[in-house]
This record gives sequence, C-alpha cells and structure tokens, in this order.
Amino acid sequence: MILKGFKELTHYLEQPRNIVIIGHKNPDGDSMGSTLGLKHYLDKKGHNCTVLVPNEYPNFLHWLPGSETTYRFDWQNSQSQKAITSSDIIFLLDFNALHRVGDDMQKTLEKYQNDFVLIDHHQQPDDFSFMYSDVEICSTSQMVYQFIEMNHDLELIDVAIATCLYTGIMTDTGSFRFRSTTSKTHRIIADLIDKGAENDRIHNNVYDANTYNRLLLLGKALTNLKVLEEYKTAFITLTNNEKNSYDYQKGDSEGVVNYALSLKGIVFAAIFIEDIEQNLIKISFRSKGNFSVNQFARNHFEGGGHDNAAGGKSTLSLQETVTKFISLLPKYASELKFSYEK
Ligand code: 5GP
Ligand code: MN
Repeated sequence: MILKGFKELTHYLEQPRNIVIIGHKNPDGDSMGSTLGLKHYLDKKGHNCTVLVPNEYPNFLHWLPGSETTYRFDWQNSQSQKAITSSDIIFLLDFNALHRVGDDMQKTLEKYQNDFVLIDHHQQPDDFSFMYSDVEICSTSQMVYQFIEMNHDLELIDVAIATCLYTGIMTDTGSFRFRSTTSKTHRIIADLIDKGAENDRIHNNVYDANTYNRLLLLGKALTNLKVLEEYKTAFITLTNNEKNSYDYQKGDSEGVVNYALSLKGIVFAAIFIEDIEQNLIKISFRSKGNFSVNQFARNHFEGGGHDNAAGGKSTLSLQETVTKFISLLPKYASELKFSYEK
C-alpha cells in the first residue's frame, strides 16, 4: 500500500476547490462508480467537481447518479479542456499511468501544471504528488469508501454515493466472488446498503439490461470458444463482421471472457475482439489462482491490470494474434498446470 501526501491533501482540501476527476478509457463499472461516488462526496464537502470520461461507456452504466453531469473528453472536448484548465487539482481514479486515458487526453494531462491525486488498485503505479494505491483492494470504489473513512466522513455517504460505490465494487468483484473480495468488502457493502444502495435495483440495472442482439452476440461468441486442455486455457474470438451482425454497442462484449473461465478445469481465459476503428485487436485476459495475467499482458500484449484480470492489445490481424497467443502457451505450461487445481 502507498499513501503519499495524505495530510497535505487533507489540508489543501480544507478550502473549496475546482476539482476534475478522471477514470480510464473504455470505462467500466468501477471507473464510473468510483469517479461519480467521489464527485458526490467532494461536492458535498463544498468543492466544485467535474467528472471527465475519456470515451464512450456502456449503456448499462448510464443510469448511475450524476452520469448526466459528466463530460466526454472525445465529444465535449472544449468543455473538458476548460474544466481541466480551470481546475486546482485533478483526481485520477482506477488507472495507474496516464497513457490509460488514451492518446489525446494523455497529451492534455501531461501539460497540466497543478497536482494529481491517484486513487487506484492496479499494479505498478506511476508516481504522482498525492497517492493512495493498494493492489490488495478489490476495487477503486472500495478505496473511495476507505478514503472517505480516512477523512472521518462516513456519515456523509448518501444514497447517490452509496449507489455509485456499490456498483463499482459489485462489477469489479464479479458480484463479490473474486478472491479480492474480503470480509471488509462485505462490511462496506453492508454499510452501503444501510446508507441506501438498493442491491436488487443496481444488479438489475447492470446485469439485466441486455438487448436481444447482445444475447445473440454472446451466443456467437460461445460458438467461437476454443479449449486448449493441455494448457488449461480457453479463448474466444469476435470478428468485426460478427460484431456488426448483432449491432454491437459499447459494453456488449463485457463479461463474455468469463464464460471461457467458467469451464471446469480452465485457469486461463482470453477474448480477442477485432476493433476496426482503432485498427487493433483488444484483448481481455482472466485467470484463476496464481497465474498472473497482468504479467502475461505486460510481457506480450502491451497491457496490464491485475493478477487475475488484465487487458492488452495487438496490432497483428485477429488470426495472427491468436497464433501468437497459442505459441506463447508452452512456455507457461507448468505455471498453468499448477496455477489452481494441483
Ligand atoms: P478488461 O479486460 O475488463 O478490459 O480489463 C481488465 C483489467 O485490466 C482492468 O482492471 C483494466 O483496467 C486493465 N486493463 C485493460 N486493458 C488494459 C491495457 O491495455 N493496459 C493496462 N495497463 N491495463 C489494462
Ligand atoms: Mn477497478
């Protein structure tokens, strides 16, 4: 755990400030939940906060309280730039290095003259003036709760804050089932429910908001599932044509990789998704046990993340990317064999 400059930050925040809060590119539930949760809290403390979202985020997160107040950096660029220029301090949430916000936004942030505060649970964070980094915590949303707790402000948590933080914790823990889910996580979740988070409604909004096409795309993805039993590995591919056939929307492939990991005996799963717009293959990796997909993604696919959930990319074709992936597995054979089920 790294806690850097916390006292100075607390002192700095004793005066009302203009604050910008930013999550990572291709936002997920934790990125949106933690940034909006922190915004509601800091606004209540008398600050003026703006959440900037690097790019499009899934429809199943648009209902989050405060979502309508955010600016999209790619679409609402002048408002976003203005918010950054007039801010006293910027909070960076749920990512560990500036390149995780995308090229354009990264360039803007690199020119920023004031301080950054990092609150994040990813491995190997870059250095910033103020930092709260803990790779042991399941989600940045739980860290925002603990940040509020460190400030002795738990009584300020209202329905909006509780709802945002609950959502982030729920999505980043696979609904409280990953190893990173601790008894403390459950105690925090219990407190968030006491403070007004409606667990059934949140779950319904996030997980039971499928379109018919999204389910058909899942069906297609499952027919593309390949198993490499020898390496306890399974992977899925989705071509651009397949995505188009089912009117692909942002977020439609979220969670699909977990189906590959749900196969009995599988400890390593991947999904390779063709992205014609960005001219690359977006990859998600998941694992069970000790096999670190963070290291695997860092070493071979320009990515990173956590030990059991990471992402990366490839500029090869889809087929070439899959071939490269398969060719890497023999090197990890024994690690994969003994990762989980000995
Ligand atoms: P997902 O597979 O759901 O996109 O991402 C899984 C985890 O890996 C998330 O915590 C996400 O922030 C991280 N991640 C995804 N893509 C990348 C990437 O390209 N680089 C790095 N460093 N982390 C990533
Ligand atoms: Mn997260």
